[in-house]
Amino acid sequence: MTKTNLLNETHNPALVSWLESANAKNNDFPIQNLPFASFKLKGDKADFRVGVAIGDQVIDLKALFALNIFDGDAQVALEQCCQAQLNAFMAMGKRFWSALRQALSQALTQGSSLQAKVESCLVAQADVEYALPCQIGDYTDFYTSIHHATSVGKKFRPDNPLLPNYKWVPIGYHGRSSSIEVSGSNFKRPKGQTKAPTATEPSFGPCKRLDYEMEVGIFIGNGNAIGEPISIEQAEDHVFGICLFNDWSARDIQGWEYQPLGPFLSKSFASTISPWIVTSEALAPYKAQWTRDVADPQPLPYLESQQNRDFGSLDISLQVLIETESMRKSAQAPVQLSQSSFKDSYWTVAQMVAHHTVNGCNLRSGDMFGSGTQSGPKPEEAGSMLELSNAGAEPITLPNGETRTFLEDGDCVIMKGWCEKAGAARIGFGEVNATILAAD
Ligand code: MN
Repeated sequence: MTKTNLLNETHNPALVSWLESANAKNNDFPIQNLPFASFKLKGDKADFRVGVAIGDQVIDLKALFALNIFDGDAQVALEQCCQAQLNAFMAMGKRFWSALRQALSQALTQGSSLQAKVESCLVAQADVEYALPCQIGDYTDFYTSIHHATSVGKKFRPDNPLLPNYKWVPIGYHGRSSSIEVSGSNFKRPKGQTKAPTATEPSFGPCKRLDYEMEVGIFIGNGNAIGEPISIEQAEDHVFGICLFNDWSARDIQGWEYQPLGPFLSKSFASTISPWIVTSEALAPYKAQWTRDVADPQPLPYLESQQNRDFGSLDISLQVLIETESMRKSAQAPVQLSQSSFKDSYWTVAQMVAHHTVNGCNLRSGDMFGSGTQSGPKPEEAGSMLELSNAGAEPITLPNGETRTFLEDGDCVIMKGWCEKAGAARIGFGEVNATILAAD
């Protein structure tokens, strides 16, 4: 396989839609994107349903199916989209995902004879609310940014920040899926046990070191049977798509509880994802070469393939912004805290899938991986407050004069993501945001 044959007519940057808002510069949802979400009209009593974003609109796929204007695999795929969530469609696999994408692309292209019919299925994004795009059965959080792992490790082990397994094993832990919510789900500051380094005993109370983690969420489409690992060559075919993911973290609770079995209540109180899943196929133009420093251990054979070397990494720009309560009251726009790219990840999506299943573990449709905090090589590319404030030692000053070491009540953290490069259409992920409420 070459990179060229990962691309098809749906990626053509010259494609233009009959829907004007889809053609606007820097719009996240041009015709080359076509991401999926679960939505309904705000306040509507009806069930959530599956939709695809185009410009500033959502295509109601249940309504589109009822029109019976697609045929073959695309119509079969649409039938599986007539549910509140995407799991059934995600389980169908690449052939059906691709057929529906191609049919939608053609129907949305300027000059399509289907324009009037598709227009009848459009709902303004401004009028909708979102649910989780799929039922997330299991959630695994990886730790794939070596820059994050190194700077966090330095705080504990200045001379030897990376543990000896890091360059061999895509490190992860099994997270909690029940508390993953969709963007806009505000949550209360967690309470728990913490112990200051100088204290002799722990105390109980609201978290004092609340943090965000800028990650991407990776959704499994079609899973594997127990006992049958997914090879690295097959891995990408099992990945339905990617969203933005904020893995909120209570650093003081984490510091006390994490040994010997890893994070627990410091992570499971809330995690937030963006409503839109950008499909693997839409991301194809942004696949990039993956390399491993010659001085580092090279991956073991089950984590190595030519395909992974040639285009295993994904160039997704990631940005974190903050809007404090005081900024909100004085109508100041959110300000950027940091920006990085998923391309700097030490391990690829294919390696995560191959590693996760190599012991025979089965993945199921709708399972989600967190990528781990995506910090880049430069200090200003750090994907968490822990790194930006040097574990609270160096407060960040915001443009309005407020300072932060960790997050305060009323802070809204916003994450955005997009892909752009010469010769391809810019596509975006929308955003994920949530505001921290005071503890009870
Ligand atoms: Mn995390």
